[in-house]
Amino acid sequence: MKLNKDVCVIGGGIMGLMTAYYLCKRGRSVVILEKSEIGSGASGACDDMILLQSKKPGIALTLAMESLEMFPGLCDELGGDLGFETRGGMILIEDEKQLRVMESFVGEQRKYGLKVDILDRAAMRKKQPHVADYMLASTYSATDSQVDPLRLMRALLRSATKKGMEIFRGAPVVSIERLGDHWAVAARDDLMVECDFVVVAAGAWSRQVGELIGVNIPIIPLKGQLAITEQIAPIGETNVWSAMYIAAKLDPTIMPERSEYDKKIGLSFSFTQTSTGNYLIGSTREHAGYDKSTAFEAIQKIMNQVRGFFPVMDSVNVIRTIAGFRPASEDGSPIVGPIDQRPGIFVAAGHEGDGVALAPVTGKAVADMVCGKGDRLRFDPLNLRRFA
Ligand SMILES: Cc1cc2nc3c(=O)[nH]c(=O)nc-3n(C[C@H](O)[C@H](O)[C@H](O)COP(=O)(O)OP(=O)(O)OC[C@H]3O[C@@H](n4cnc5c(N)ncnc54)[C@H](O)[C@@H]3O)c2cc1C
Repeated sequence: MKLNKDVCVIGGGIMGLMTAYYLCKRGRSVVILEKSEIGSGASGACDDMILLQSKKPGIALTLAMESLEMFPGLCDELGGDLGFETRGGMILIEDEKQLRVMESFVGEQRKYGLKVDILDRAAMRKKQPHVADYMLASTYSATDSQVDPLRLMRALLRSATKKGMEIFRGAPVVSIERLGDHWAVAARDDLMVECDFVVVAAGAWSRQVGELIGVNIPIIPLKGQLAITEQIAPIGETNVWSAMYIAAKLDPTIMPERSEYDKKIGLSFSFTQTSTGNYLIGSTREHAGYDKSTAFEAIQKIMNQVRGFFPVMDSVNVIRTIAGFRPASEDGSPIVGPIDQRPGIFVAAGHEGDGVALAPVTGKAVADMVCGKGDRLRFDPLNLRRFA
């Protein structure tokens, strides 16, 4: 089958769907080619956080704040309950060393307009009555929010399809060739799309798509394992993270001695509750190729950790475990914008652990760039050419 479209989007994860949605809104004809199933990549195996507190002051934080502002309007446009909630977030601080690092981090974030505070033990316990007695303090931001990525993707798919978007599942892109003034994208043997523009939104597989056009897109899979509990009533007011891992990125000397296994799996901590009452407990950051299995030992580590922070979790059952591949770029920041050497081809990938949060701001920006609108310069720091 041969199709003629304005834009071919490669990848049916949250980034591809969001970009396609904004392109359809601008009246472009769009097709998505997805190698397996919609949401079968990271977007279907992740937490649901629109977390601002973990973002480094700078473009990462500014874009996350802008993206969060877009969510309420987007949810209204798409209709239905997408699990969007602003429940706030806290980062637990265990000792004085972590406290000092977090105070300076929070100070920097405030300069960018993020509303975030440090709570003392008493104030923290009011919001988290079940937190372990030894916990010293926490940060608190009322703005941290969440959205159900699966429901969001379904709503984007429904809305873009109504606007005329076509989508092919089980359609891995195998070649991308220049044909005169446009591009020919082939998926399987029998499907060819001729188009003016291509958007690479292939998540952790974007490097392989780049190889088809002879361009290095330095993104690797960073596996994350999660434990999902049975549905229970909330045990605290907000979602929770640990300062140990966030502060250690800023000052590695504060990280306590860890086992070789903990280091190998890149153990970290996130503790969030979905709108349906299940807790999502994570997580790991592993260089494990594309092996999507979960390991009993890693899940046990994750559960021991949460029981240390919240002893009440000892009696809560894990009902499922999942793993997904965060698309991690070489410098940890997303890759967004045109590929200079391949006019008409754009990248929207490499959002690592922030793709849900950053999807609206990225999807809209890339759609604008494809349509020759928007402020390309603003996204220059995220352009692929920074790796040249
Ligand atoms: C454990 C975990 C927890 C996370 N928690 C959060 C969180 O709380 N908040 C947050 O903001 N982010 C979170 N993330 C990160 C977030 O999930 C990702 O950044 C985001 O889902 C990436 O979306 P994507 O569309 O770029 O990639 P993906 O969802 O992986 O989609 C890429 C798609 O491209 C397809 N594809 C690949 N190659 C081809 C090809 N050749 N042809 C056609 N199709 C192709 C794949 O099949 C896939 O469906 C988490 C991730 C993990 C793993």
